[in-house]
Amino acid sequence: MSDRAVLHVKGRVLVGPDDVRDELWVVDGRTTYERPSGARDIRTVAGWAVPGLVDAHCHVGLDTRGPVDEATSEKQALADRDAGTLLLRDAGSPSDTRWIDDRDDLPKIIRAGRHIARTRRYIRNFAHEVEPGDLVALVAQEARRGDGWVKLVGDWIDREAGDLTACWPRGDVEAAIAEAHRLGARVTAHCFAEVALRDLVEAGIDCVEHATGLTGDLIPLFAERGVAIVPTLVNIATFPDLAAGAETKFPRWSAHMRRLHERRYDTVRDAYDAGIPVFVGTDAGGSLAHGLVADEVAELVKAGIPPLEAVSATAWSARAWLGRPGLEEGAPADLVVLDGDPRVDVRVLAAPRRIVLNGRVVG
Ligand SMILES: [Zn+2]
Repeated sequence: MSDRAVLHVKGRVLVGPDDVRDELWVVDGRTTYERPSGARDIRTVAGWAVPGLVDAHCHVGLDTRGPVDEATSEKQALADRDAGTLLLRDAGSPSDTRWIDDRDDLPKIIRAGRHIARTRRYIRNFAHEVEPGDLVALVAQEARRGDGWVKLVGDWIDREAGDLTACWPRGDVEAAIAEAHRLGARVTAHCFAEVALRDLVEAGIDCVEHATGLTGDLIPLFAERGVAIVPTLVNIATFPDLAAGAETKFPRWSAHMRRLHERRYDTVRDAYDAGIPVFVGTDAGGSLAHGLVADEVAELVKAGIPPLEAVSATAWSARAWLGRPGLEEGAPADLVVLDGDPRVDVRVLAAPRRIVLNGRVVG
């Protein structure tokens, strides 16, 4: 190992929330805590190092109108990367972004295939739109296309009812979740309202996105079964505008969205207090910009989650939940170097000093 380029990260390395070391080395793109012998070309980076941040709910290859071309997808992935977000769980995309896996300068992506929605019950051009009889087949198809996740749209406005209603009958959703599990995929569902949650959790769902309708009667069941939530509070912040825009046509829906928005912080804190796993997701790609992960962490803190836990929700615990390594010996060197201790002040996440992806300094 004589003339190899080596990166030396020193200062404070947060291997875990309570496991702090003084330095790490990057050799051949991987993390090591053993000083490489005979290394000559050493570059040093100093600061507070944490594992590459996780956005557990974003969309690459999608914008407000539907699928986008590869150049736009690349820009989205770069915006995430430049915010220090080096692991994405893509919560549904109509584009084939598999080519990103061959680019070691772009974040790693865990895909959930394409959204599966009920006919005319989601944003146009986003989802496969099917009737309940076809749900199991579509879930099997997307489980095979994705990276271990499937995404359902669990509730949406029903224009006849003028309000959010559940999208799937209980029996079909049970069969669909069982099929995904048989194929080794976990299932998550978009849910704004209260109404679909009991069927989904009792049917064995693994995660709920947004989860604004999670109330006291269901929180213990979510906690008991370890069903995670990804609140996407930076997206929930848009509810009042959405409500105002639909006030005349759908007054009940608008009022409902406002109520969900008003109690959003209580919902998240009650879920956290009960032991429900909560993770950072921004919902970038539909209408929001990519790279908002620090804003979402700040929102979780505002909701009452302790800073250390809010950081963990985009770092250590998020990676463990997704089955990806952090900064352990031999892991790909994906890390972010910050100006200060994020466990004390999460605002340092907003301006990373250095970003290292696959062992290379990329920002
Ligand atoms: Zn989304």
